[in-house]
Amino acid sequence: MSLFRLQAVKRYGLGALLLVAAIVSTQAGLFNGFSRTIYDRFIRFSTHPPAEDIIIVAIDQHSLDQLGRWPWPRSLHAKLLDRLALFEPKVIAFDVIFSEPVAGASNDDDLLAWSIERNGPVVLPVMVEKASKLAPLRETLPIKKFSNVAAGLGHVDTELDSDGIARSAFLKAGLGKPSWPTLALATLRASGSKMPDARLPGERNLQQTDADNSFWVRDYRVLVPFSGPANHFQQVSYSDILDGYVDPSVFKDKYVLVGATAIGLGDTIPTPVSALGQPIPGVEFNAHILDGFLRGRLIEPASKSAEFLINISIVLLCVLPFVIPGLSGSLPLVVVLTAGALLFSWFGLTRLHIWFPPGTALFTIFLGFLLHNGQHIKRLLATVFEERSHAQATLTSINDAVIRTDETGKVCELNHAAETLCAMTIDRAKGKSIEEIFKLCTRDGKESYPVQQLMKKTADYHREPLVLTNHNRKEILVQVATTPIPPTDDQMGGTILVLTDISEAERLAGVVAYRETHNRLTGLPNLILIHEKLQEAIDRAQISQRLVVLVNVDIDHFAKINKSMGNVAGDLLLKTVAKRLQTEQLRNTTQGHVGADEFILIIEDVKNRSEVMPLVAEIRNILGDTITLLDKKLNLFFTLGISVYPENGRLPEMLLHCANTAMHRGKEQGQGKTVQYTDSMQAQAERLLYVEQIILGAVESGRIETLYQPLVRATDLQIVGVEALMRLRDDTGEYISPIEFIPLAEESGQIVSLGNYQLYDACHELVSWKEGGVNPLRLSYNLSPRQLQDPDLIHTVQRMLSVSGFPPDLLEFEITENLLLENDGLIKPIINKLRDLGITFAIDDFGTGYSSMSYLTQFPFQRLKIDKSLIWELANKPGSRAITSAIISMAHSLDMKVIAEGVEMSSQREILLSQGCDELQGYLIDRPITAAQLKKKYLQGS
Ligand code: C2E
Ligand code: CA
Ligand code: CA
Repeated sequence: MSLFRLQAVKRYGLGALLLVAAIVSTQAGLFNGFSRTIYDRFIRFSTHPPAEDIIIVAIDQHSLDQLGRWPWPRSLHAKLLDRLALFEPKVIAFDVIFSEPVAGASNDDDLLAWSIERNGPVVLPVMVEKASKLAPLRETLPIKKFSNVAAGLGHVDTELDSDGIARSAFLKAGLGKPSWPTLALATLRASGSKMPDARLPGERNLQQTDADNSFWVRDYRVLVPFSGPANHFQQVSYSDILDGYVDPSVFKDKYVLVGATAIGLGDTIPTPVSALGQPIPGVEFNAHILDGFLRGRLIEPASKSAEFLINISIVLLCVLPFVIPGLSGSLPLVVVLTAGALLFSWFGLTRLHIWFPPGTALFTIFLGFLLHNGQHIKRLLATVFEERSHAQATLTSINDAVIRTDETGKVCELNHAAETLCAMTIDRAKGKSIEEIFKLCTRDGKESYPVQQLMKKTADYHREPLVLTNHNRKEILVQVATTPIPPTDDQMGGTILVLTDISEAERLAGVVAYRETHNRLTGLPNLILIHEKLQEAIDRAQISQRLVVLVNVDIDHFAKINKSMGNVAGDLLLKTVAKRLQTEQLRNTTQGHVGADEFILIIEDVKNRSEVMPLVAEIRNILGDTITLLDKKLNLFFTLGISVYPENGRLPEMLLHCANTAMHRGKEQGQGKTVQYTDSMQAQAERLLYVEQIILGAVESGRIETLYQPLVRATDLQIVGVEALMRLRDDTGEYISPIEFIPLAEESGQIVSLGNYQLYDACHELVSWKEGGVNPLRLSYNLSPRQLQDPDLIHTVQRMLSVSGFPPDLLEFEITENLLLENDGLIKPIINKLRDLGITFAIDDFGTGYSSMSYLTQFPFQRLKIDKSLIWELANKPGSRAITSAIISMAHSLDMKVIAEGVEMSSQREILLSQGCDELQGYLIDRPITAAQLKKKYLQGS
């Protein structure tokens, strides 16, 4: 039998065998367990941060300790609902069953019913239960009084897979027919979302109804996209709500789920995300389903037919690559296919939210590998399929052109693809030499390729594509592989030529190149291509002596819009902006999309600089100032950064850099700004770098110093404390202002070590004054936001206090008002721990943020510092007196002392004194001075 017939037979047999294996194992679910293990891994790897809009009210151990044993009186739940409703949640769902009336306390039931009615929407659960092993299934609903007033009922049924782990949820289920939505769906609907059954995801159940209502019927199976392990969602203790220990704002417009989390109470469910022996509470399970709904992440199992299709494609992939000589059965191929199948599955799960179980595919790949390598099996296959007709059929069906020649280079056989490629039938080709059938030349058409050279004694594979000119003079791009056939006893040797038509692949490569140079979403050139286009524009401008204007357009607040309205809206916004920019109105302009929300315009043929601002006006006009996204009208702002060739640079990267720098400068100034690049920006950028560098080694090189500014009692100007203010020296010995370096140190994190050093320095300094017989003074220390995030903060402070011996009750940390507004939830516990050490707290720069006094009462502050800006207005703005007066009296009513900072004039001092301000700080008393100056001035002889 000829060699390539034998090869074909093997492939044919192998393919058939793999196919059968794939079909059988898909159908019988042979590798379900294996697929599940992979699924669980994937789920654990694809967690998400906790949803911000879901919050769990936990019936936890703490609440049981506070409120007594479960079950609690229903009047308590009524009270909880009343409380929660005040906080304006979107919807409240109970994962607590109220299936029996309370014996002898029906008043309690009425109370809860009223509360549900008043405080809705409230959703209640439906359960499926069996009274005993043999008893029929029954649905357990909340009592009528409650279900009548509830906004929705939802089932809380879960199904465990055969390995005892719950992975799926049924969006609808019920006795006899799937009539109840799952609790999360009921909750979503009660909150106003219209989600008709027809649009629900999930695997359908075809035998939907059961006439005699004895079976629990489930429908719309989805896999739950667990976004994290147990305790993943925000939780608030039930009893803390009743006790008023929670911040009302955390519930506003949220989905609130109430349920048991205490161990031994309520149901717990083992899931792929729970560590061994740590199942998650039912209420969290429902929260995961809700989360999946809200973010469109519910996972659909791939249908059986899709699974078949994919597995069969993988079988084909296993077989096809073996056509390429040298690759047959090789380990790298198995690795590539395995990784491919896993990646495909991972991509489906995390991006498309469809689960394709890869078990069978992996098995098939492995089997394919075994088959290819087992000589034994090879021989077996060869004998089984030793019929010519089969071999011919396989050869015919191969897409590559296969030609066999004898030892003299005369054609003996052509397959169907070869006939098409060469435009010549086998009958005409037989006996001819290869050169008579087609010509080959290099791709650039310069050299013809000696075909005879292909008839070598060794196997060869030409990576370099060649152009084949066939009998019809058609030119086709091909890749050529040759394999010599050594002569055997009964057959002459020869050569096998495999010609692969790569014109299509070449076209696809073009597509790939397009993708690499264009933005996927808007199709506009990306940075790579814009760079090239800019170079071309510069080349043209060099000849025409015109200017090139480069505009960097950035959408203001894009991240916010994306976050609040979702990626779909964000994408729509980008596409709209791209479309607006592509107008005909902008002549001689190339558009690009170079970053998430950044666009570039290259405007050519500009005569002089005076044309730039009119161009900007035109661009702003084209961009517009509103957009309607998902039926919502939004105001749009754009920041434009501009650079001009040749004055800002002659290279594309320089011009891009300048436009970008200008854009960022614009952002710093607020929204909707246009900034043209100037050389001073470069100087500013250099200064920034310089200061950053100085900060880096500041502690080691002794550049950091502490100045002290006195704080005095308003009544008698007696010194009561000092504020430590940091200074940095530059190379010339000048001070760099903290206004300049603190934000940089904050950004780089260096503030932590600078601040620690300063605390150490100041504590030692003040202790030394005490040793000099001076009354101890209070030390005010500015604590930066970044320091509050330092996990070692408490420990460091403790250490500084103990090594210096500074009394903790004289240490006061100042925190700015704006910091509190940003992240109160995180810093409150830290503040409390520091307070436990004895340290007091002052709120700094009060009046610059937007916090209300009542908001501040949540934080334990001893002092409030009125910001300089308000004090300065005292002297010349009549209305401002009322403000300071109100702040002072409100602070006093909250038991806080008030410090006025930035007092420069005695008129200010008088007003503040009359208003009852406690302490003063400012140039009127003294500037920040060195420790030595301070000692000399204030502490001598006291
Ligand atoms: P701040 O905490 O509000 O500090 C008070 C600032 O007001 C100081 O500026 C002080 O010199 C200035 N000041 C005090 N009285 C008057 C006055 O009558 N007139 C005028 N015009 N200014 C007055 P300084 O030292 O330049 O510090 C500026 C800011 O830098 C501080 O504002 C603080 O936010 C930050 N800062 C300074 N030192 C440190 C530090 O050691 N650590 C941290 N984290 N931040 C610091
Ligand atoms: Ca301060
Ligand atoms: Ca201040």
